[in-house]
Amino acid sequence: MPHWAMVIDLDRCTGCEACVIACHAENNIPIVGEEQSAKGRQVNWIRVERYWEGEYPNVRARFIPVLCQHCDAAPCEPVCPVYATYHNPEGLNAQVYNRCIGTRFCANNCPYSVRYFNWFDPRWDTPLDEQLNPDVAIRSKGIIEKCSFCIQRIHRARQRAREENRAIRDGEVQPACAQSCPAEAMVFGDLDDPESRVSRLAASRRAFHLLGELGTKPRVIYLKEDEWNEPPAE
Ligand code: SF4
Repeated sequence: MPHWAMVIDLDRCTGCEACVIACHAENNIPIVGEEQSAKGRQVNWIRVERYWEGEYPNVRARFIPVLCQHCDAAPCEPVCPVYATYHNPEGLNAQVYNRCIGTRFCANNCPYSVRYFNWFDPRWDTPLDEQLNPDVAIRSKGIIEKCSFCIQRIHRARQRAREENRAIRDGEVQPACAQSCPAEAMVFGDLDDPESRVSRLAASRRAFHLLGELGTKPRVIYLKEDEWNEPPAE
C-alpha cells in the first residue's frame, strides 16, 4: 500500500500561485469576496507565503507554498470529538465532512493554519457553477475543510490500475497543484517506494520539514539551499 507524500522545492518556486488557482478549480473552493476576506474568512487549501532574505540592498523575495502537511503525528486528529478527521491507511489526514460538527478544535490545534471553516453555504454565480468538479463534494456552512492531496485523483488512479491489474505507477497521481506548477517545484508520490521520485528527492541534503521541531512528522518535505535547513526527523 502506498504512503503518499509531497516534495516542494523552494529553490524552484517562483511564487506565481498557479497552484492556488488550480487547487480552487479542482476542489470546488469558493471565492468569498473582498469583505469576508478582510475578516479572515477566505478558504485556501494551499497558500503561497512570501518572505525576505538578506539585508538591503542584497535582498531577495522567497516563496513557500503551505498546505496541509498530512502529519503522521497530526495535532488536529486527537482533538476532534466526532472523529471527523483521522489518518487513513495511505498516510493521508482525511476529513469526513458529514461527520464534522464545526467545533474548530482541529483548526485551533493545527500549527500550520491550513484548516478552513465555512462561514456560509458556498455559492457560484452562473456560469462559474458550470465548472464545478463532480468528483469533489461541496462543503456546507458550519464545517471545516482542507487539502486532501486531491484524494479523488488517487481514487481514480487506483481504479485504473485495478482494471489493468497492475500497481499505480510512479508519477501517475498528480494533485492539481503539482500538475499546474510551471516550475515543476512540486512532486507527489509514494514515500515507501525507495525508487519513487519523491523518495529520492526527500533524501536530498536540502530536505527539511516545516516546523519539524514540533514533532508533527509532516508528509510534505521542503527542499531549500540554505543554512536554516534541518534534515527531516527519522
Ligand atoms: S497540517 Fe494541520 S491539518 Fe494537516 S495534518 Fe497537520 S495538524 Fe492536521
